[in-house]
Amino acid sequence: MQIFNFILLAGAVTALLLAAVAWQRRHAPGAPALLAMQLCAAWWLTCYALPFTQFVPHDGLFLRMRVIFPGVVAIAPITLLFVLSYARGTNAFRPSRLLALGLVPTVVLAVALSPLHDLCFGSWRGVSTDSIFHMGPLFWVHSLYSYALIAKSVLALLAAYEHGTTQVRRQTRILLGALIVPIVCNVTFIAGVSPPDIDPTPLGLVASGILIALAIFRRGLFDLVSVAREKISEAITDGFIVVDAQRHIVESNAAIWRIFDIDPPAQPGELLGERMAELDAHVAGEGYVPTTAEFVHGAGRHLELRTFAICADDGTILGYVLIVRDVTDARTTSFALEQANRQLRAQLDTIRSMQAQLQEQVIRDPLTGLYNRLYLADALARELTWAGRTGKSFAVVMIDIDHFKSVNDDHGHALGDTMLRALGSLLRQQVRPTDSPCRYGGEEFVIVMRDVTLDQAVERIDDLRRAFADLRFASSGTEIGRTFSAGVALYPVHGNDDATLLAAADAALYAAKAAGRNRVCRAAVPAPASIA
Ligand code: GH3
Ligand code: MG
Ligand code: MG
Repeated sequence: MQIFNFILLAGAVTALLLAAVAWQRRHAPGAPALLAMQLCAAWWLTCYALPFTQFVPHDGLFLRMRVIFPGVVAIAPITLLFVLSYARGTNAFRPSRLLALGLVPTVVLAVALSPLHDLCFGSWRGVSTDSIFHMGPLFWVHSLYSYALIAKSVLALLAAYEHGTTQVRRQTRILLGALIVPIVCNVTFIAGVSPPDIDPTPLGLVASGILIALAIFRRGLFDLVSVAREKISEAITDGFIVVDAQRHIVESNAAIWRIFDIDPPAQPGELLGERMAELDAHVAGEGYVPTTAEFVHGAGRHLELRTFAICADDGTILGYVLIVRDVTDARTTSFALEQANRQLRAQLDTIRSMQAQLQEQVIRDPLTGLYNRLYLADALARELTWAGRTGKSFAVVMIDIDHFKSVNDDHGHALGDTMLRALGSLLRQQVRPTDSPCRYGGEEFVIVMRDVTLDQAVERIDDLRRAFADLRFASSGTEIGRTFSAGVALYPVHGNDDATLLAAADAALYAAKAAGRNRVCRAAVPAPASIA
């Protein structure tokens, strides 16, 4: 009997130590409830170990039962709170829920400690001839209620086991033991299997305390790092799997199974290939080299897989870590961006080409396709710069078709246009790439000829004149032709700026017309300025 008492007291000390540990880690989910649970257990064990029958010879056992009773009624609800806070990862409970849980124990305890205690203890007085079946109806209400709460706790632990990682499973296995052992002891007592004067339930509480100590110190229950690891592993959206060297699944998080839409293995230790051949192929292939692969899974989901080996110091591969990230959204966005970019580039190209076309239209004459007067201004400025830099000369030639008005009048405007176009293409074909032929207006044309002498310019324009005079245009059964007159001025002989040069060429043209048309005239050399 003394050994029995000693065990109970040792159990009470263990429970108090566990309560102290739970206090230290009181912020961890389940720790405050465990603290309360261990205080109840310590109370129960201490009271059970004390020699009540020596203090109160006749009614000692009955008194002890009533003193212990607060611990007895509280332990099952507190156990449920402990399991729920552990499984849910929070110590917060709705007050209404706490009140509901405490209602039955409070009523039973109040009756047990009041003069109405017979409702709870019946005719039981703890003497050796008494049977537990002499207990009153409220005791059985309390017992059923407590069993129901413990059953609920067991179910909650089983659910945590099913969804938990390896670490959680190791903890829940021990906690299940810590729950079931006292229940088994209690059932043997209530069922009358154990000797009637020795309740083995306190012994069960001692065993339970030892198991919980094991869960705390060996399996990291309330360990901040371990709790954090659980939280992180469940919170991250990337999926991960850890396999050993033989590719048995050792650890995984919920995300990986969610990504692949596969049920997690019921037991860790299943071969990766059996559950996820798709990923196994990557480990089997290049697992020992850190890899990053991207593949399309199922209905167009883009998954990024990173694999690396866990090696011992001597290089032996202990296992592999596989991290899978769903990058579908990123890929879809970048694809859409790429497409938008391509569209933008195409639009930009169109705008550029339209801009170029517009620029061309601005400087081109639509009828002849030659440059227009606007361009001529640029061409002259450019030529003046070029000539100033190189010290070379250039010619400005002004051409006007002879008697052109009569073409329109006698043969129609359309033939006039045809004739203008014909002269345009003649000019384009016959001038050098460095010359700039422009339509000056109406039937007048200007050519800027780079790097020529006056003779060369006159000679070339004379060739052009002959070629134009040879052209024939069909008009209502007959053929007609026209000639042109031209005036040639040379930089720097006839002028040093565009207006002077144009005026000189125009004057030469006027001279050609006056001299009978169909000819090329040189500009007159301006008289030197007289010195007064
Ligand atoms: P001259 O030998 O003195 O140069 O006589 P001309 O008839 O050529 O001279 P004038 O300047 O009187 O006539 C020019 C004509 O050119 C007047 C106008 O109807 C015609 N003309 C101007 N632009 C165009 C055009 O784009 N198309 C056509 N078909 N005719 C045009
Ligand atoms: Mg004219
Ligand atoms: Mg004319």
